[in-house]
Amino acid sequence: MRTYVQTVTGSVRADELGRCLSHQHVLFGYPGWEGAVLAPFRWEEALEQAAAVLNDAKQRCGLQTVIDATPADCGRKVDFLKAVSERTGIHIVASSGYYYEGEGAPAYFKFRMAYGNAEEEIYQMMRREVTEGVGDTGIRTGVIKVGTSAGKITEYEDLFLRGAARVSAETGVRIITHTQAGTMGSEQARRLISYGAKPEHIMIGHLNNCTDMDELLKIFEQGVYGGFDRLGIQGFTGALPESRRLAEIVGLAGSGYADKLILSHDSIIRMLGDPWIYSEQDAKDLAHWNWTHVFEDVLPRLQEMGLRPEQAEAMVTDNPQRLFVGE
Ligand SMILES: [Zn+2]
Repeated sequence: MRTYVQTVTGSVRADELGRCLSHQHVLFGYPGWEGAVLAPFRWEEALEQAAAVLNDAKQRCGLQTVIDATPADCGRKVDFLKAVSERTGIHIVASSGYYYEGEGAPAYFKFRMAYGNAEEEIYQMMRREVTEGVGDTGIRTGVIKVGTSAGKITEYEDLFLRGAARVSAETGVRIITHTQAGTMGSEQARRLISYGAKPEHIMIGHLNNCTDMDELLKIFEQGVYGGFDRLGIQGFTGALPESRRLAEIVGLAGSGYADKLILSHDSIIRMLGDPWIYSEQDAKDLAHWNWTHVFEDVLPRLQEMGLRPEQAEAMVTDNPQRLFVGE
């Protein structure tokens, strides 16, 4: 039985996790951001900014643990996450893994697919990060993040699913996923399980973007956890209205899956590269995309819609604790 989760500062027991946001980003940068010149990354300034956001969520809402879902190719900086954790006292779990093919950095491992043994190398890379640490930092990752494309799982993405399942089977590390446009979640679960991962060690993510109840039930019927982890974002990049998601959460809880539902925002404190430029409508759609919306607005609303207080609360406490630390 695994009794702890690996954070960037060490191992943490289940009863220390407290309120947990299970899919967030302290930093996120689309591959290529490193060349942007108008807003280079400044460590101290970013640290101040991240600490302010996390301390606010901690003080007002009791946030105690963050799963940082930033994959290796999208600006993951485990030493920075460690500094943020030390500054705030909030537990942060870092991810191994690469983003889905369309928005990640597939060039290296696609080259290795042609001129190497990409499957074995991806497995070795993730296993090393989980058991020894990232690069020479000595900081270990505590989850593996995998992602797949809209309507398909590419050959490249499948190598990461295979590697993640293999490392999970060997070490017990948990797997969280990115689904694109609400598709392929049930297929992700099916493949990860067939490749050796335990269903209770998997969280299929971004279910917010799926309105197909048949597909949602096909995911939960496999025994995995499901992340409604983009709460607070609607309209923007095709995200569905929040009302749809809340109805799905209540419906799934009523269908017997209350203990498998996990809530988060997928919000980003600092987008790496130059500042976003977006419309007034986008600003309105993103008004609640922050680090407190789940606690302040979503949990009360779910109770008004019929969930018992402890059922709603479990989606940010007991359920993530069981997923990340349980059997
Ligand atoms: Zn994310």
